[in-house]
Amino acid sequence: MRSKYLLIAIVLILQACSLIPDTGEMESHGTWLQAKSEHYVYYYRPNSAAAADIDKIEAEQERVFTQLNKLLGTHYNQKIHAYIFNDLADAGFTDKTGQAFPILNTIEVIYGLDGYTIGKRGISAHEVAHIITFNGWGPTDLRILSEGIAVYMEHATYDSEADYGSSQMIVAALSAHGNLPDIESLASDFEKFDTNISYPVSGSFAGYIIRRFGMEKFRKLFTEGRSDHFTEDFQSVYGVSLSDVENTWSHQSDKSLAQ
Ligand SMILES: [Zn+2]
Repeated sequence: MRSKYLLIAIVLILQACSLIPDTGEMESHGTWLQAKSEHYVYYYRPNSAAAADIDKIEAEQERVFTQLNKLLGTHYNQKIHAYIFNDLADAGFTDKTGQAFPILNTIEVIYGLDGYTIGKRGISAHEVAHIITFNGWGPTDLRILSEGIAVYMEHATYDSEADYGSSQMIVAALSAHGNLPDIESLASDFEKFDTNISYPVSGSFAGYIIRRFGMEKFRKLFTEGRSDHFTEDFQSVYGVSLSDVENTWSHQSDKSLAQ
């Protein structure tokens, strides 16, 4: 079992650049201040927005840490290292606003003029969900599920699930125009799709199957499913066909557009 995980982890390292930083990427460029809370070490820039709000960031991240363990059924207890950059340029991000390196228990996020990927209710859960699912459940090559649960956790860790509607609305709009990607393609070719489509659609689908069938089954699919035979894996975990579930899910989204 262990060697199976190891092999998968190695394959994942080769496939997913977000798991391990590029050479030199983690070298600390610029000055960092440091703060600690129970489950995190924060690194942030002097005189930054994060420096001014560090107490608020700590409170929100601790709240979400506990809530994620509860929702995911995990007991993850390692310290997460959070590098908080001022903006996209400071982080060197061109195609993302945050990233997680689960093997290193490290996240890189922004807090400032370009937006927030830490410390604000909702988005506070995303990168932490990547760290906890990878270390608490195991690796997966199914980005539809790893991004799906991270996006869904943004909604589920909110006070209410009111904001879950935003992913649903995108799905409904795509569906109405005949542009909703089919789940099998998203599972096998996640990178092929625009992130403005792949992320919310994955979040909506993950949320739907979690709410309908529970977290334990989702976890089973996450750890045992593979991107090259997702349809078969879905059927064997859920005992129902992917197309049936996909059909109900996408029609449920039609309703959210009407509301
Ligand atoms: Zn993500």
